Amino acid sequence: MTTAEITQIKVLLSTPKKIIIVPHKNPDGDAMGSTLALYHYLKSANHDAIVMAPNDYPHFLKWLPGDETVLKHDAETDRCNALLQDADIIFTLDFNALHRVGHMGDCIGESQAIKIMIDHHQQPDDYAKFVFSDVTMSSTCEMVYLFIKMLGDENLVTADIATCLYTGIMTDTGSFRFSSTTSQTHEIVGKLIACGANNSDIHNAIYDTNSYAKLQLLGCALKNLKVIPELRTAYITLSQDELNQFDFKKGDTEGFVNYGLSLDNIIFAAIFIEHKKDNIIKISLRSKGDFSVNEFSRQYFEGGGHTNAAGGKSDLSLTETVEKFITILPDHKKELIS
Ligand code: 5GP
Ligand code: MN
Repeated sequence: MTTAEITQIKVLLSTPKKIIIVPHKNPDGDAMGSTLALYHYLKSANHDAIVMAPNDYPHFLKWLPGDETVLKHDAETDRCNALLQDADIIFTLDFNALHRVGHMGDCIGESQAIKIMIDHHQQPDDYAKFVFSDVTMSSTCEMVYLFIKMLGDENLVTADIATCLYTGIMTDTGSFRFSSTTSQTHEIVGKLIACGANNSDIHNAIYDTNSYAKLQLLGCALKNLKVIPELRTAYITLSQDELNQFDFKKGDTEGFVNYGLSLDNIIFAAIFIEHKKDNIIKISLRSKGDFSVNEFSRQYFEGGGHTNAAGGKSDLSLTETVEKFITILPDHKKELIS
């Protein structure tokens, strides 16, 4: 983002505006943390700000400061569409293509509001007037901190803003262990703690609030884990029946895919989860090093994301999807074993 653009945004925000802040569908910690942090910042500057999520998010994010104000587009579609039409500014955070918000994307595209994208995914689409896009960033939360700083308002970071931003940086970096974590990430995290983010409480609220059923579902997923050592790949499947057996709730499977990657000498991990209601298999892909799951997902599973973390879907059955995956893999042997 250029200095000239920052100046334009400063002018834009110098008088109260009607602002909608949008995370991607099925929002994660970074999506909710970044949108709620920006919400608190804009509210403190007297804007009429609202976070509008395409749909609901997991229970382990429902304690975030400002959670009770979040509108869900799928639950209140008419009201939300009217607000989008009437908005002066729409911020889109933690995604870079309007299809990532489902049906809501049409309404955002048609709205006359000025659009501002803040995002760290690859290959951004061209729908926003102002684009702050950087694939080297650990998280959108790190970028929201920098955005506030660029606007000259670092001193306006409250404990609520710091708590939201810490949450997203922590979840998107796998608690500061992925290679996207830089010295800048740690410097910002240090500042967030100084501003009032309680790191221990946040870790507890996100990671130590599991239900018994969720841990049983994890047990089932680990039982289903398969390894293809010659291709340094591991994958997990979960059928709808298995999800039902363990009383699946939104967010319960988050992080499961990382168990495959925790195996010695495995650099590519996948999880295939059957969603009977939508008639799709939801796929999460993770890698270590140069093997791009973003490219893999774009090529074979209608998805995308980052080099080392991506998602996608398949319209085939669970068994057929796994068969497709296993059939494709040898074509990538060189990259996987290099
Ligand atoms: P997850 O596997 O946790 O759902 O997603 C991993 C990363 O890939 C996230 O950054 C997410 O935004 C992105 N992602 C997940 N699903 C999709 C998808 O269907 N399309 C695209 N373009 N990105 C996705
Ligand atoms: Mn993110």
